[in-house]
Amino acid sequence: MYWDKTNECISYDHLQGLQLQRLQDTLRRAAQSPFYKARGIGDYAIDDLSDIKKLPLTTKQDLRDAYPYGMVCTSLDEVIRLHSSSGTTGIPTVVYHSKKDIDTWTELVTRCMYMMGVRKNDVFLNMIGYGLFTGGLGLHYGAERLGCLTIPSGPGNTKRQLKFMKEFDVTVIHVIPSYAMHLADTLDSMGIDPKKEFPHFKSAIMGAEPYSEETRKKVEDFFGIDVFNSYGLSEMNGPGVAFECPEKNGTHIWEDNYYVEIVNPDTLEPVPDGEQGELVITTLNREAMPIIRYRTKDLTSILPGTCPCGRTHKRLQRITGRSDDMMILKGVNIFPIQVEAVLIGIPGVGRNYQIILETKGHNDHMIVKVELDPNMFVDEYKALESLRQKIVRELRDEILITPEVDLCEPGSIPVAQGKAVRVIDNRTL
Ligand code: AMP
Ligand code: ZN
Repeated sequence: MYWDKTNECISYDHLQGLQLQRLQDTLRRAAQSPFYKARGIGDYAIDDLSDIKKLPLTTKQDLRDAYPYGMVCTSLDEVIRLHSSSGTTGIPTVVYHSKKDIDTWTELVTRCMYMMGVRKNDVFLNMIGYGLFTGGLGLHYGAERLGCLTIPSGPGNTKRQLKFMKEFDVTVIHVIPSYAMHLADTLDSMGIDPKKEFPHFKSAIMGAEPYSEETRKKVEDFFGIDVFNSYGLSEMNGPGVAFECPEKNGTHIWEDNYYVEIVNPDTLEPVPDGEQGELVITTLNREAMPIIRYRTKDLTSILPGTCPCGRTHKRLQRITGRSDDMMILKGVNIFPIQVEAVLIGIPGVGRNYQIILETKGHNDHMIVKVELDPNMFVDEYKALESLRQKIVRELRDEILITPEVDLCEPGSIPVAQGKAVRVIDNRTL
């Protein structure tokens, strides 16, 4: 049941002792890097975990400013790999790993995979990008450590993925949510029943971008599998930061490796458990490039209470979006995930959508392009028009502004190879 019971079920007292010792080590090491040396990080007295609040926060911009080597705190001889963020919010940032860092990261990913039930006899198809992006290699190393037959297929080439799933009796996949929906569409259009086609298929690891509980359910029901949420970011290694246990109620964040804070994004003051705020993380066990109080911009909360699975590490609520992907239209704050949650509940709506923001006159204007369900054969204009109006109504009720809704043919909205591009902002004001 546990890959590393000692650490996964560590008592909270022991955990806090370990965190303090690791935080002090981290600060000593970080002080060797030009960036943190200039910030005087070695001068702070940390006698208690609560002292962490005194330390300066680190932002993505700091990582860019320190490019290329300003945050490395070991000699470059010790560094064996670099990774880079996918750059969904601008110029990529670079993170460096020592041999020990890669080993620690692998161990955390292995912990996650074992927790969701992956074992040595599994066949694992990794449909996530290899290369600079951390998703592919991160999970790959974990799966190999577990002893799975690991297939590094990467994203794209859908027909080949489906062929692999069938011919190699794949049991577990790693996939981005938008691509899982695309796989489902493709199977639908081929008239294939996934439950008959892939009798060995049992679970999927889904992460890298926000998705709703409804999307999880759709994928689970369509394929007849369990879907586990995987949260990570390249600045904190990538996958293996927080992951769902079989309870599927929040992702356990591995606190022996990461110190977690949730802060109000405006005041930067801590918020209590259960209340939403921005996730701030400090690496507690990284050698080549420790990062202190990193502002992830991800909005979440700590789930109060303990988890019945026996693991003591805190659980993060599903990420509702980033404090910086929030759209503000006519003064109303809207998250793309709200639009998704509405669309997914409407029969006749397909699996892909896109939001386009424009300026009309002096006003913000939102166009939502919605693909139709490939199984729906409607040739009557009236039926389509009433579906369109229903979508407008339901979206308006949820997001409080009235969008324009364009119905599109299945497959007409481009599918990204990496993360889906959900919002195109063409506004000029
Ligand atoms: P990257 O550094 O390119 O891997 O991007 C990391 C970002 O992807 C995170 O900060 C989140 O905004 C997003 N992300 C990753 N995993 C998830 C997840 N399971 N749910 C929601 N957002 C996620
Ligand atoms: Zn649990």
